[in-house]
Amino acid sequence: MIFIGLGSSIGNAEEIFASVEKLLIEQGIQVVKKSSILKNPPIGGVAKNEFSNAVWQVEPVEARLIAPLQLLKILQKIETDHGRTREKKWDDRTLDLDILIFHDEIINIPELQIPHPEISNRIFVLKPLSELVDETLEIPTLGALGSLIRKLTS
Ligand code: ATP
Ligand code: CA
Ligand code: CA
Repeated sequence: MIFIGLGSSIGNAEEIFASVEKLLIEQGIQVVKKSSILKNPPIGGVAKNEFSNAVWQVEPVEARLIAPLQLLKILQKIETDHGRTREKKWDDRTLDLDILIFHDEIINIPELQIPHPEISNRIFVLKPLSELVDETLEIPTLGALGSLIRKLTS
C-alpha cells in the first residue's frame, strides 16, 4: 500500500486537494482512499497559518508499477503547479505532498526517506492514516500504527 500526506496553509485546501486528485489521475495514479481533512496549528516555528492535512492511499492504475522516485517527481511537479516555492523549510505553503509509506520499502537517500521519518511524531499524519487502515498496520522500521498513536497521545 502507498500512502501520501497532503498539507496546505495558503488558499482553499478543499479545492487544492481536489485538483491534486485530477493531476494524479493524469499521471496514472488513482486515489483509493481519502481521510477527512484535519485542521492543525503550524509546526516548526516558521509557518503562521493553520494547516489543513489529509492522508490518501494511492496506487497506479491498471496494475502498472511505479518506482518511489518516480512518484516523488510526480508529487513535486504537482506542488510546483500549485505555486509551491521552496524558500524556507516548514514555511506556509499552498501545497505539500509527502510520500509517507511505500509498501514495505525502506529508503534512506538525501532526496527520499521512506517511511517518512516524521510519521511517528505527527498526530496530524497518524490520525488521518488511522481512518484508512486498521491500527495493526505495521509501518516499516516504526512499528504498529496503534502503538505509535498511543505513544503520542498518552
Ligand atoms: P517534512 O519533510 O519535515 O515534512 P517539508 O515537507 O516541509 O518537511 P519539503 O521542503 O517539502 O519539506 O521537502 C524537502 C525535501 O525532502 C524534498 O526536496 C524531498 O527531496 C525530500 N524528501 C525526503 N523524503 C521525502 C518523502 N518521503 N516525501 C517527500 N519528500 C521527501
Ligand atoms: Ca511535509
Ligand atoms: Ca514535503
